[in-house]
This record gives sequence, structure tokens and C-alpha cells, in this order.
Amino acid sequence: CGIVGYIGQKDAKEILLKGLEKLEYRGYDSAGIALQNGNMVHVFKEKGRIADLRAIVSEEVQAPKGIGHTRWATHGVPSKGNAHPHQSASGRFTLVHNGVIENYSHLQQEYLKDVELRSETDTEIIVQLVEKFAGEGLSTKEAFRKTLTLLIGSYALALLDTEDNSTIYVAKNKSPLLVGVGEGFNVVASDAMAMIQVTNQYIELMDKEMVIVTNNAIVIEDLQGNQVKRDPYTASIDA
Ligand code: GLU
Repeated sequence: CGIVGYIGQKDAKEILLKGLEKLEYRGYDSAGIALQNGNMVHVFKEKGRIADLRAIVSEEVQAPKGIGHTRWATHGVPSKGNAHPHQSASGRFTLVHNGVIENYSHLQQEYLKDVELRSETDTEIIVQLVEKFAGEGLSTKEAFRKTLTLLIGSYALALLDTEDNSTIYVAKNKSPLLVGVGEGFNVVASDAMAMIQVTNQYIELMDKEMVIVTNNAIVIEDLQGNQVKRDPYTASIDA
């Protein structure tokens, strides 16, 4: 399983699909991408191979921003409905997740009793929580941070907000995730190999960090809101 993300000027579609192909070796049962253009997010997902996903991705959708996922099902059968990305009830937030949220049913009981879930995954709880807290007046960053403080388990996450075209929100705990540094664009990936075609500069993330990624900035914060400074390293992999 794996995660990729791109924000920049080029069309994200091919960069994401190529990135997911590079992550195929990690194993997966389904795959999906979300492409964001302004306040529109287009989700494509399919059970099976990346080639099956490729076949359903519309050539017409062009977007300078997107996230992608290969799933290794832990909660809910491998199916199109359980494949990522997952969206919040209103469609405002879109999320991909690798890992396992151990307390997802507790969180559902505690916070989401009145939300009708669309999938059988632990992941959907995360995106619904972000929407709930944003609906209570928090900024997306604070809603995401509040959600992260409630999660018990492992996660690599990438989140899109239809009300903010310029940011990808990212977080990690006990699942691999790197941020790749470009000029006029930035990327995220579970493994540098997925994005080595576009950059060889990577920033390592530590557990319980979140990152606010735009096309010209990467801001890392801990879950208390303190900013963390970390220099990129050069990955030496053959593209
Ligand atoms: N636990 C999530 C699910 O079953 C994510 C699995 C993964 O890491 O791909 O959908």
C-alpha cells in the first residue's frame, strides 16, 4: 500500500498514476486518485490494478493538485466503495490513508453518531471527524490537528479541502511518509522511489507531525502547534 500527492503547476494525473505504479511492489488490492481543480474534486477509484484505475481516469480532468492511494484492506473488504480516497459527508474533504486506526469505533460512537457512513473502513472516520470539527468553526489546519490528537494507531494521511485550492494537509504516525521538495511544486510519497522522476530532495517526517504543503512552502508542525525545522536530504535512487 502507498500514498502519493502533488501540488504545483503541471497536470497531477500522470504524476500520481506513475507514482502509484512505483509503489505497486508494496502490495495492494485497489487504488484511487483525487484531482482538485479550484473547488472541484474529482475522485476515481477501482478495485484491482493501477491499469484498471488508469482505464477509468478521465482524460478531460486536468488539475494542478491531487492525491493517490493503493490500498491493502484492513477494515472492510477490497471493493470500489472501500477504496480510497474517502470523502466527508458534504464532499468538502477528501482523504487517503495508509495504516490502521485502532479506536475508530470508539470515535464513531463518541463524535459521529449522526453521520451516515458510506464505507466499512476505519479511514472514513478520520475524514468525517475533520468535517465535524471544521463545521464547529475550526480552520482546516486546526480541525485536522484536533482529529490527529484523537487517533490511536498508525497513519500516513493526505487531505484535500475544496475550500482551499492551495494546500495539501499531510500527517504521519508509524506509517512511512516523505515530503519531496520541488521548484514551484512539492510532492508527498510513502517512498522516495514514487516521486524520484520529479525530485531527489526529500524531507523526512517524524511520528505525530503534520505538514502544510503548498506549491512553494512546506511547514512542519507537531501536534501542539510548534513549528519544526528540518532540512531536505538528497535521495540517490535511479529514476
Ligand atoms: N485501514 C485502511 C483500510 O482498510 C487503510 C489500509 C491501507 O493501509 O491501505 O482501508
